[in-house]
Amino acid sequence: MKRSDFIKTSLIASGAMAIPSNAFSIGNFGVGETEFKLPKLRYSYDELEPYIDKQTMEIHHSKHHQGYVNNLNKALEGVFTENLTIIDLLKNISNYSTAVRNNAGGHFNHSLFWTSLSPKSNTQPSEEFLKQINQQFGSLDNLKTAINEAASKRFGSGWAWLSLDSNKNLFVSSTPNQDNPLMDIAEQKGTPILGIDVWEHAYYLKYQNKRGDYLSAIWNVIDWEEISLRFSNK
Ligand code: MN
Repeated sequence: MKRSDFIKTSLIASGAMAIPSNAFSIGNFGVGETEFKLPKLRYSYDELEPYIDKQTMEIHHSKHHQGYVNNLNKALEGVFTENLTIIDLLKNISNYSTAVRNNAGGHFNHSLFWTSLSPKSNTQPSEEFLKQINQQFGSLDNLKTAINEAASKRFGSGWAWLSLDSNKNLFVSSTPNQDNPLMDIAEQKGTPILGIDVWEHAYYLKYQNKRGDYLSAIWNVIDWEEISLRFSNK
């Protein structure tokens, strides 16, 4: 099968997978396309102000994320990928090159990140989602604290995650670089429903070395309605 045919087939197939499809409503990895593409944002670069500044958003999306997309397309040239979906690729990432690992992770993680953010103020978790948060963490504030702790402790570049494990329980974890909990090399494996980017490129222009200030601010633009949909699709 030619690579372009594979990509069409596998990406269409991936739409039917267990991973919440709404997680990728704008970052759907280019279904029907022959290459991965940068997803459009559903808000403008300045709409997350003052919590995330316009210049950071523009560079992060149009330069950093675009770079992962371009390099992923390049890294997959000549790779045997028949009948393989992007999710399967991440789940078997130890079989691939570092370039595929970094850039497939980068594309997936940022697609999830953009769709986790919204200029809507004061969104709330659904009743069902909040019930599970309360059962496992005691309160929504405790959950935010746990995620921020994971994010603060990540040395260097990486991500903090809220994911569902195979028993449909929530767990908080952190991964280095562009790894994520879907990858077979992750210490804690599961389906991520929220990821917080703690690479310096995500916050340095506005917050400089103060990662904690960025982590406090970002909760103002987290879209709990979207995260709730991902949870209820579990
Ligand atoms: Mn990033």
